Amino acid sequence: MNERLRTLYKPRGRAGEFADASMATWQGCTHGCVYCFNHSRDKSKFRTAEEMAKACRPCGDVLRKLRQDIEDIKNGEGPWSEVEEGVPHILFQFTGDPYPPYEVDANITRGALKLLRDAGLSWDILTKGGLRAFKDFDLYEGTKSRFAQTVVFREDALRQKHEPGASVIAERFHAFKAARIHRIPTWMSVEPVCDAAQALAVIRDFAGAVDFIKVGKINEHEMEGDVDWPKFGIDLAKTLEEVGIRYYIKDSTKPFMPSGFPMDTREGGE
Ligand code: SF4
Repeated sequence: MNERLRTLYKPRGRAGEFADASMATWQGCTHGCVYCFNHSRDKSKFRTAEEMAKACRPCGDVLRKLRQDIEDIKNGEGPWSEVEEGVPHILFQFTGDPYPPYEVDANITRGALKLLRDAGLSWDILTKGGLRAFKDFDLYEGTKSRFAQTVVFREDALRQKHEPGASVIAERFHAFKAARIHRIPTWMSVEPVCDAAQALAVIRDFAGAVDFIKVGKINEHEMEGDVDWPKFGIDLAKTLEEVGIRYYIKDSTKPFMPSGFPMDTREGGE
């Protein structure tokens, strides 16, 4: 990574499959997902979900750093010269969520989106904050930006158990509907799949509300053992064919899909 970049970066490893540029406006997270990499593994940054929630605050000096990164991009500096079609979509965000409850008043994410929009850049928002993102839908106009949400449970009782601080499932559905009304392209992340029946039900329920989906299994977590993955692969293939939505199967899940099943039906790789 070019040392000049201050807040934008190119994700590496498994994260690189998800986006080729990213940044964060908020650190910590109040959503408390039991499967979170940031507090549920031996080497996690936080010991508990509560500790991670207490650490939720804006990333230091993020808007000033972003202004400087944008200047570098305009000047053709940084790693973006390696990207064939220029600066790609910027994903918000791999760690934490761009729409914690505090964003409603703080408008840190809104400030970053304004800077990107004014610079002619585009972004992908990925959140579990539901309608908290709605206040910024006006900023998408004239950009190629997209709105995305993670949904892995259909039953809100399971969301309450596994993602207690995240928005209720019905709210996420309404957020997608609102994005459609604003003509904002949408996608849904069905990852990490940790309950096969719930994930398949989500795909059936949300297929008419989003433009495409990405599906990926849970990894390196005790919940991984709760799912019969070869069976899930067969059921997932049938469900995707039934609902007819465009999709991308994440690398970790591809080995469980039926032989010859297409893994990416998005237009131009999106
Ligand atoms: S929303 Fe993401 S960062 Fe926040 S607790 Fe859930 S998995 Fe972790």
